[in-house]
Amino acid sequence: MRYFSTRDPQKTPLSFEEALLGGLAPDGGLYLPEAIPRLSGPWRRAASLAELGVEVLKGWLQDPPLAELEPLVREALDFPAPLVRLEEGLYVLELFHGPTLSFKDFGARTMARLMQHFLRKRGERRIILVATSGDTGSAVADGFAGQENIEVVLLYPKGLVSEVQERQLIVKRPGVRTFAVEGTFDDCQRLVKSAFTDPELKHLPLSSANSINIGRLLPQALYYLWAAAQGHLEAANFCVPSGNLGNLTGGVLAALMGLRVPRFLAAHNANPYFPDFLAGRAEPFRFPPTVPTLSNAMDVGAPSNFERLYHLLGPERLREWVWGTTVSDPATLERMQRTYEQYGYLACPHTAVGLEAVHRYRMYTGDPTPIVALSTAHPAKFPDAVRKALGIEPPQEARLEALKDRPVQVEPLPPRLEALKARLL
Ligand SMILES: *Cc1c(COP(=O)(O)O)cnc(C)c1O
Repeated sequence: MRYFSTRDPQKTPLSFEEALLGGLAPDGGLYLPEAIPRLSGPWRRAASLAELGVEVLKGWLQDPPLAELEPLVREALDFPAPLVRLEEGLYVLELFHGPTLSFKDFGARTMARLMQHFLRKRGERRIILVATSGDTGSAVADGFAGQENIEVVLLYPKGLVSEVQERQLIVKRPGVRTFAVEGTFDDCQRLVKSAFTDPELKHLPLSSANSINIGRLLPQALYYLWAAAQGHLEAANFCVPSGNLGNLTGGVLAALMGLRVPRFLAAHNANPYFPDFLAGRAEPFRFPPTVPTLSNAMDVGAPSNFERLYHLLGPERLREWVWGTTVSDPATLERMQRTYEQYGYLACPHTAVGLEAVHRYRMYTGDPTPIVALSTAHPAKFPDAVRKALGIEPPQEARLEALKDRPVQVEPLPPRLEALKARLL
């Protein structure tokens, strides 16, 4: 199985190992597989997501060999992803039962272990440098912590993440250093970008772990299959609350492997680029600035995986296959409320954006195909939105409560490259 960059017309092939450790291609493109393995074997009869994961990933990866892949996947995917039935033909796939309570745990935990496998083999190490405004940082810190050949350096904007998010970011983890930057998220991103190109840091093995890495995408294809297996669904539409479009790209890969998905629903908040593109209202790659919303993990003006989807499917097929909509903050709160009234189900704001999209899709199209709505985060991570929508306190969540007693590690950092360099060196 070989990979090539979306911007390389010659399609120079690379191994999975090179694509994984490279992250972004040197020409600025994203890695795509040369061919997509078809589903075969007894994946529908798997007893767990991990078992299904091994069965499917062995078709994608020749290295690690099966004897090493199996324990790796079992350790990475050691938490449930239950399919909850809300009503006839409508399911929620809960992707928030991992250690940091968002779907990003699937990708981060698997990618960390795959990277560790290849680095050990090469006798190399890496320093993963991440700027975060929320879920990605804690999933990466948690997923990569304790991997022998990897250290993590995490930057977040001090005072600009929620209390729950901050607690998840600063809890002390082996091999992780966290910096509270006295600036904005853009300052954090700028610091990370300039660190990667700084000549004095060239000798450091800096690397990234953002959602464009192929190592995060493959594991995100697995739970689509697991939903179909759990629900005995021959065919299902999937609704994906989207920002950078990494989750949706995982679903498209699952469908290209052979899962029957007649329609994808791309549910976006007030950041409208992708739905606008699908409706023919926006040009390819002409991205607007980011707008802040309640579903802040989806606040992305320029979705980085758009380039991948565009190359994988082309504009016509994308527009035919994916239905998109944008959901405002008031509509999000109202959908949280209605979902609670109708089903007694507490959805986080990201999931509610998805459920509102489901409601609109069914109303406009009358399509009777069963729908699986992905639930991307636990509502306890967003107590303010829960209070605002429902006037209640979110239920306590043991994994968040336990963090209160754990030691923290965080260092302040002025928003200047020189300061970051001094710490890294
Ligand atoms: C990251 C995130 C999303 C968006 O996923 P993408 O892969 O960036 O489209 C949605 N919901 C939550 C809770 C997230 O953390």
